[in-house]
Amino acid sequence: MEFADYKSLVFALVKPPAKITQARRLKNKAEYAALLNEATTKNLLVYYAEALVKDGREYAKQPWRLDSDSMPNVNVVEQPQEQTEPVGLKCPFCGKKMSSTSGITLHVKSKHPDKLDEHLQIS
Ligand SMILES: [Zn+2]
Repeated sequence: MEFADYKSLVFALVKPPAKITQARRLKNKAEYAALLNEATTKNLLVYYAEALVKDGREYAKQPWRLDSDSMPNVNVVEQPQEQTEPVGLKCPFCGKKMSSTSGITLHVKSKHPDKLDEHLQIS
């Protein structure tokens, strides 16, 4: 994210879902890049808010906003691979994978002779 004025903002490193581990002020883009890098390394999100100075103390003006640049670091859930295994090409009795239907029949004949009749009825 590009910010016009880093000095007017407070940045926070946030451990998902919402635990602020560290809030800090930045002076420039280089410090921001370092922060983003730190977030990536530690799997943290970067939030930012307007800095508010009141009675000589600094506050972060709510609400905190999420820096979308830090988003890819977290919640990257790997999609489960789709099952492309062809249906029916495995032994219905023990689940052993076969390359052909005739292979299954041969397998059933030798490994599950008592199930052969049942198998031939199914197929
Ligand atoms: Zn089998």
